[in-house]
Amino acid sequence: MKIEIINTGTELMLGFVLNTHQQWLCRQLSDNGYQVERQIAINDSGPAIQDAVREAMQRAELIIVTGGLGPTSDDLTRQFIAELLGVSLKEDAGVLERIEGFFAKRNRPAPPGTEVQALIPEGATVLMNEHGTAPGLVLCFARGVILMLPGPPRELHPMFLNQALPLIKQRFPLREKIVSLTLKSTGMGESVVEAHIRKPLSGLVERGLTIGYCARVGEVDIRLSAEGEASHTIVAEAEKIVRELIGKYIFGTGDDSLESVIVTHLVTQNKTLALAESCTGGFIANRITNVPGASSVFLGSAVTYSNEAKQILLNVPATVLSEHGAVSNETAQQMAEGARFRFKSDYAISVTGIAGQTGVMPEKPVGTVYIALADATGTTVLKQLNQYDRETFKFVTSQQALEMLRRRLI
Ligand code: ATP
Ligand code: MG
Repeated sequence: MKIEIINTGTELMLGFVLNTHQQWLCRQLSDNGYQVERQIAINDSGPAIQDAVREAMQRAELIIVTGGLGPTSDDLTRQFIAELLGVSLKEDAGVLERIEGFFAKRNRPAPPGTEVQALIPEGATVLMNEHGTAPGLVLCFARGVILMLPGPPRELHPMFLNQALPLIKQRFPLREKIVSLTLKSTGMGESVVEAHIRKPLSGLVERGLTIGYCARVGEVDIRLSAEGEASHTIVAEAEKIVRELIGKYIFGTGDDSLESVIVTHLVTQNKTLALAESCTGGFIANRITNVPGASSVFLGSAVTYSNEAKQILLNVPATVLSEHGAVSNETAQQMAEGARFRFKSDYAISVTGIAGQTGVMPEKPVGTVYIALADATGTTVLKQLNQYDRETFKFVTSQQALEMLRRRLI
């Protein structure tokens, strides 16, 4: 079964909006065992939409078209696909009533053009929009199905998961069972990861295991998958081998993030965390506080960019700063211990480093970072050299700091 995605939107082609539907839909489909064959993005123009759909109809059994179902003049998807398939559009009283009800419930008059969204191509199945007005549409053609979804992500996501996906599973049942597992690692580059596990997994590859690598800043995902009767066993054996070889670097699976794993560890162990951040400017605190439930373990962060702030908020002695400098092993240690003392936390992490040209010295080049971790047993300091642009620098540094804590927690 071949699947193609067509994302419509002039805003995509002008670079004003990132095409997140492409990633999101591919991900949802692959999580459910379907792989997308081809994806294109096009302008909101009748000929472009018709050309794209006509071509896809020659190859694919499932065509997903996103965007352009709204009420404005650039919303052309419904009309041009109906024309291409040679079906007429008819106003659907039930759909119109629902759309008018959407505005009535919000005490707003229905804007002009609303009724266009109640025009339904003959023979189409309507997917109700719980979070907006434009319904989704499912149309059959000789060899398959065209699925039209609204552009706004908050409308598309629930409609796809709750209504479209069940239809897809029913219409295109999977012949083979697919099992896949993503192991998330940090602290090792992609090729190093591969060098460790490739040979030991080769036997399983012969039995049907597929290994995929996805490298991101500071992280490498290892995706293990297999199809068919033995898929569970093959993936489980592969996981065991990978964990035996590089388990120390694996912090989670699936959609785990380093911060979510850390919060879980802290909650389970009933421990608290405080931070003292200089060069990351609160970024580590931001990551931690993105995790639901962080409030029960995270006490706070002192963003101490200046020397004065390090002294006032973290009790870093002036002599340490003048003798060793703000970016030094000693200052990092004092910051972590100061944060742990001030916040009365079980653990405290500090970071101090040189993200830009200011403060650079021959022995402390740009990218120099000291990360300290303090707990009841003492303080450990790690020196790193992260030579990236500022944003990447912050991410990589936060990753190293969080990983240092994770290692301590396990
Ligand atoms: P509306 O009723 O809001 O007009 P629509 O179905 O006509 O919905 P579009 O007009 O194509 O959809 O897109 C509406 C908005 O949805 C866009 O401005 C954009 O912010 C977002 N959007 C559309 N397509 C994508 C995409 N591929 N990726 C991410 N966001 C998108
Ligand atoms: Mg629109």
